[in-house]
Amino acid sequence: MLIVQKFGGTSVGTTDRIKNVARRVAQARAEGNDVVVVVSAMSGETDRLIGLAHQISPLPDQREMDMLISTGERVTIALLAIALQESGVAARSFTGRQVGILTDAVHTNARIEQITAERLKESLAEGVVPVVAGFQGINQRSDVTTLGRGGSDTTAVALAAALKADLCDIYTDVDGVYTTDPNIVPNARKLSKISYEEMLEMASLGAKVLQTRSVEFAMKYQVPVRVRSSFNDHEGTLVTKEDLEMEQEVVSGVTYDKNQAKVTLLGVPDRPGIASKIFGTLARENVVVDMIIQNVSQGGMTDISFTVPKGDARRAKETLSKLAEEMGVQDIQLTENIAKVSIVGVGMRSHSGVAAKMFSSLAAEGINIMMISTSEIKISCVIDSKYTELAVRTLHDVFELSKTPPQKSEKGKAKTARRASK
Ligand code: ADP
Ligand code: ASP
Ligand code: MG
Repeated sequence: MLIVQKFGGTSVGTTDRIKNVARRVAQARAEGNDVVVVVSAMSGETDRLIGLAHQISPLPDQREMDMLISTGERVTIALLAIALQESGVAARSFTGRQVGILTDAVHTNARIEQITAERLKESLAEGVVPVVAGFQGINQRSDVTTLGRGGSDTTAVALAAALKADLCDIYTDVDGVYTTDPNIVPNARKLSKISYEEMLEMASLGAKVLQTRSVEFAMKYQVPVRVRSSFNDHEGTLVTKEDLEMEQEVVSGVTYDKNQAKVTLLGVPDRPGIASKIFGTLARENVVVDMIIQNVSQGGMTDISFTVPKGDARRAKETLSKLAEEMGVQDIQLTENIAKVSIVGVGMRSHSGVAAKMFSSLAAEGINIMMISTSEIKISCVIDSKYTELAVRTLHDVFELSKTPPQKSEKGKAKTARRASK
């Protein structure tokens, strides 16, 4: 089998842990597999580097940020290659550029466009374990780019797709994908399997156990992904195609995202074309806008609020300030202490009353809802970030997610039987 193994920041957080990772890689090889390894920076390193830049400038140049934050992964690839060699496994470290990870030009949030992987194939053919730096690539001009926070997951799945690997193992600091973050809700339940669709929704709503784009890649190229712990041998969670055995719960997971900020434009002239100007300007700056709310207009004026990733908030405000002046907007406010809490579930499509239950249980805890957005299979509320943990626990309890659902395979069989009888 060809397996891509990815180890996250905590798993390579100390030299002892790096030695532990080397043992795992050696074991997979001893079992007769070909292995490609992808690693993140040591835990806390990427944040430390970002902090250094912010000590110098509030709005550092994005190209320079990539040059800076891509260094964390260079440290771990070299250390792991040394650890592997030390334990008798031939290994060689590679940067994103060396394995031909080509991206678009959006610094700090680039998308992979192509992977040549020549050196990887060479290395595998020689029996040498390639150790690849996650999170990084190069653009057309050969400048270093990074793939957005948590981007090493995407490097791993994209390499698995490019090499047609049999499996992509994501090793992290929890035993798999749970009904919610097990570090916040200790009785969260581990899922043995989850569909690409549901995982995509959970990831995009903040379940940072997998980066959203890694799930997009996995779904597009049908890469089986397994999420498991690097600290034990528990089974983990398989992310795969939907099947009849999978749970079809009304609500199957609760997620939160503290990495959002709210921008409010006060006193915006209410006339055609204004929203398109505001959001067109942000799009040109590659700022990804999530929720948008516009109030009822009074006296030809309205307020518009929207959320953006925290890291882009100041840039968004700065970008809009000139435009706001031209348009006669009264004020731009930035609120950073917000969180988005969401419930996810494919079964929501056919159930009513789920939103009401969510809102009333938050209200019962005295949690005010600032913004709401819904889709077929999720409901999200923006709240004050200090209530995040309380809201997540409350929703996990109210929707009884720690309970093992009734045997789905029985339901699945019944469904198949019904179809057959038609
Ligand atoms: P790594 O450094 O290995 O990439 P991350 O910190 O990016 O690890 O992701 C793992 C973390 O994801 C866990 O420690 C956990 O706190 C968080 N998490 C959030 N939601 C979930 C969930 N539904 N299931 C599992 N972990 C989750
Ligand atoms: N080191 C990067 C980050 O902290 C990428 C990753 O860990 O996946 O976001
Ligand atoms: Mg991660």
